Order: sequence, then structure tokens, then C-alpha cells
Amino acid sequence: MTEKFIPVIDLRHRDSVPAIPSMLEQPTGLLADALARPLHDLRISVTDRCNFRCVYCMPKEVFDKNYAFLPHEALLSFEEITRIAKIFVAHGVQKIRLTGGEPLLRKHIEKLIAMLSELRTPDGRELDLTLTTNGSLLARKAQALKDAGLKRVTVSLDSLDDAIFRRMNDVDFPVSQVLHGIEVAHKVGLGPIKINMVVKAGLNDREIVPMARHFKGSPFILRFIEYMDVGASNGWKMDEVVPSAEVVRRISTEMPLAEAEPNYSGETAERWRYLDGSGEIGVISSVTQAFCHECTRARLSTEGKLYTCLFATSGHDLRALLRSGRSDEELATAVAHLWRARSDRYSETRTAQTAELRKLQKIEMSYIGG
Ligand code: SAM
Ligand code: SF4
Ligand code: SF4
Repeated sequence: MTEKFIPVIDLRHRDSVPAIPSMLEQPTGLLADALARPLHDLRISVTDRCNFRCVYCMPKEVFDKNYAFLPHEALLSFEEITRIAKIFVAHGVQKIRLTGGEPLLRKHIEKLIAMLSELRTPDGRELDLTLTTNGSLLARKAQALKDAGLKRVTVSLDSLDDAIFRRMNDVDFPVSQVLHGIEVAHKVGLGPIKINMVVKAGLNDREIVPMARHFKGSPFILRFIEYMDVGASNGWKMDEVVPSAEVVRRISTEMPLAEAEPNYSGETAERWRYLDGSGEIGVISSVTQAFCHECTRARLSTEGKLYTCLFATSGHDLRALLRSGRSDEELATAVAHLWRARSDRYSETRTAQTAELRKLQKIEMSYIGG
């Protein structure tokens, strides 16, 4: 198989320090962007490093020993992350997902979880606090994560076939250890656990039905994600996307499915139930049926830049505000202005041509947080 890798231009430093309007404001929890979308979710990337080199995310050819990962002093401290998170919660965020890179590589991550789990929404509710992981360190860390206040985890798993899995993570990591991590996380009560499988045509699409068979009737909810043109290094092509409709068709042929109602409005995964009552799967059609009109997510990069879209080409440097001694009120006002101006809807306007043009301008997912 020949893979095409795009030389990466490092765009992590293309950003701006947000202006602070002179009229300061208190958060109301009711912020809406230019397309009337509220601010409900915050994804926080806690590290840009990873122990995997998934071919669709951090290809070895780009993320090699010469790659300049962020130095430690560039990273937001746990206190800085918590301070920013608190402001977002005051603005209406109800769900926080820790991600990366591989979030379990961040030292003492359970301390951050304990700090974030203390936050409450304006009406006094606990946050939906979760984390996405490749599962490699989960068996070792699950209990500490649970004890710190993490509610649940999502585990990325692209194949059950050990040879395919090792080829995809590209560091020869065995699938058995990830499966063990999932079991341990389940036992300590980090559920309901979702399993995310990114499907790339010709690489792991023959694993769709075996994955469905394996998790059918289990406590785990398997979700299939369309391969996206995130970042600039994975050489994405539209014909490598397996549309969700095709995923559902293939599974349904052997194990009939019927569409189910969403759990809540704005849910990104479309739910399908097995007709024999043995559970459900989800499909996330980020490419073929974009859901920008319902996108309520902000992303905070490892070094404290706010991105209002996964496909944004530049971020807003909140760390600069934090480290220049700005008050919470000033930060909250700056965030409110940024969100109100947000009009991103990249996936709804994507074509093969725009994807090609934007290839050289996008920020890597491992940096911005998936
Ligand atoms: N390292 C953790 C993990 O793999 O779960 C968290 C970070 S990773 C960037 C978050 C999610 O993004 C993973 O489920 C991964 O499969 C997904 N992802 C990465 N690159 C992708 C791409 N090109 N298209 C779709 N999903 C992608
Ligand atoms: Fe690492 Fe996750 Fe990206 Fe794979 S998908 S390289 S595990 S950050
Ligand atoms: Fe949200 Fe941007 Fe993805 Fe659309 S493309 S769903 S606006 S992150």
C-alpha cells in the first residue's frame, strides 16, 4: 500500500491574542454564536504527545524524533486549565472531554480530573466529565481516574485483528492490552464506555462486521467514525471515506438494524438498534452528513489556544491573557466575544476541492484535541 504524506508547515504559532472589550460582562450561561449555537462542550487537549503513531493521525514520517513537540513550560498547568474551564462552565459548558495526544501520558492527570470534578454548572449540577484514550494505559490508571471523579471513558479501537491493529497504531501495540484496559475500566465503573472506530477504506473496513459482532450484546457502545481530513499530514482523500450508510448496510446484512431516536437533540452519533434487542451501535458521519448546524464545541489546545472549529486555521491565545495577569471577568468577556463571532461550518461546506486547498492550512488533531 502506498501512502501519501503531505509535508507539514508548522501552523501552531498562527494565532492572535484576543482583544478585551472595554465593557466587561458577567457570564449568563446563555451564550450563542453567530449561527445561534450555544456553547455546551469543551474539549481540552492535555498533551500533544502520544505513544501511538496512528497512520491517519500522527504518521511516523511526520511525527518522528525530529518533530518539535511542545516544551513543558508551554503547556497549560492544571491550575490554568481549571481556571479557563471554570469560565467556560459559567458560560454554559456542561460537558468536558479530556483528550490529546494521549491524555493518559500527561503526568498526574488524575489531579486535574479531581480539580475539574469540583466544578458545577450555574444551576449547581455536576459536569459530564469524560476522557478519550487509546486505551494503552487504561488498565493501569482506570481506578485512579475513577477515584478522582472521572465519570466515563471513550476508547479508540480500530480493529480486533492484531496484525491490522499493530499496523494502524504503527508502534506494534497489541490489541489484547487495549481490550484488557476496556474490561478494567468497565469493572471500576467508568461507564457507559464508548468504543470509537475510525474507518479508513482499504485499511480496516473489513473489520466493520467483526467489530460489530464482537461488541453486540456487550455493555460497550461501538461507534463508527468517518475518516476525516483533519490536520495537514495524513494525506486524506475523499475516496478513503467509508460512508456511514455503507457501514450500516454491511452490518445490517448479517445483524439487522433499525434507526433509533437520538438521546438528546444535537447528538453527533446517529443511533441504530439491533432488531433482536441486543443493543445498539452509533455512526458519526462527519464527512457525509455534517452536523455543523448543531455543533456546540469549543477546543482548548495543549498550550491554551481556543479553537472554535476542528478545522480552524488559527487559534485565540487564552494563555497569553492568563499569563499577563488578566482577571476572570476580562477572560470571560473575551471568550464571550469570540463565541458570539463564531460562524465556522467547515464540514457542511467541504468538497474535494476545498479539502485539497485547506490541506496546508489546518491544525493537527493531536495538538488541538480530537
Ligand atoms: N489519543 C486518544 C485516542 O486516540 O483516543 C485521544 C486523541 S485522538 C486525536 C481522538 C480521536 O480522534 C480518536 O478516536 C481518533 O481515532 C480520532 N481521529 C484521529 N484522526 C482522525 C481522522 N483523521 N478522522 C477521524 N477521526 C480521527
Ligand atoms: Fe495518538 Fe489518538 Fe492520534 Fe492515535 S488517534 S496517534 S492514539 S492521538
Ligand atoms: Fe463543528 Fe467545525 Fe466540525 Fe462543523 S466542522 S461540526 S463547526 S468542529
